[in-house]
Amino acid sequence: CLQSSVDDKTEVREYFNTEGFNRWNKIYSESDEVNSVQLDIRTGHDQTIQKILNWVQADGDNKGKTFCDCGCGVGSLAIPLAQMGAKISASDISDSMANEAARRAKEMGIKNAKFYTSDLESVTGKYNTVTCVDVAIHYPTEKMSEMVGHLCSLAQDRVIISFAPKTWYYVFLKKIGELFPGPSKTTRAYLHEEEVVRQALSKAGFEVARDEMTATNFYFSRLLEAKRV
Ligand code: SAM
Repeated sequence: CLQSSVDDKTEVREYFNTEGFNRWNKIYSESDEVNSVQLDIRTGHDQTIQKILNWVQADGDNKGKTFCDCGCGVGSLAIPLAQMGAKISASDISDSMANEAARRAKEMGIKNAKFYTSDLESVTGKYNTVTCVDVAIHYPTEKMSEMVGHLCSLAQDRVIISFAPKTWYYVFLKKIGELFPGPSKTTRAYLHEEEVVRQALSKAGFEVARDEMTATNFYFSRLLEAKRV
């Protein structure tokens, strides 16, 4: 088990430093060099990000609030959160991703966000909110509870996490190869049982307060916001 998850991680890091970076950097941008599947994934991902921003916006004043974004990619969530006035600490296991996020933030004149390279399991500190969006797809089933527990240990108030849900329907689609037909195929993709995530949150003293589901043709993401009780 341990060996396989170490291999998973090495594979994920290498992928997102090389061809995965090129693919996802295009998907997570306005570039028109994307195919129809990638465009569909971009649309779905944009919806997930917007739902999170709406929650944060609805809660009001973000000034002085700290956010930790684990597996930040190119900063699709961290950058707009910074623009809303929060103080952001964002990291990614991939150097290329973290550097691109920092570059984008700098280009936009953002000063209240820092970006660095780190495996999320090595992230330390205490933050009002910890976010981890569309990262769990790279996490083996047996490591999921521990990962959620670690995110919770960093969060003073709440955790926002998304994952591809393991329902019979998606398991079926994945089997016949219709799900993740494009970019994600190069790394293993893991679906997660919602109950496992909920139990890990609850074990760490968190309670789900809001939830969402975003589904397009090729993008599936269950989103949970859990607050410390
Ligand atoms: N959260 C970003 C977003 O929603 O725009 C990026 C999502 S992208 C599908 C997945 C990201 O997770 C990649 O940038 C990848 O490098 C990162 N990642 C995967 N495993 C990780 C780990 N163990 N620690 C930190 N980042 C990780």
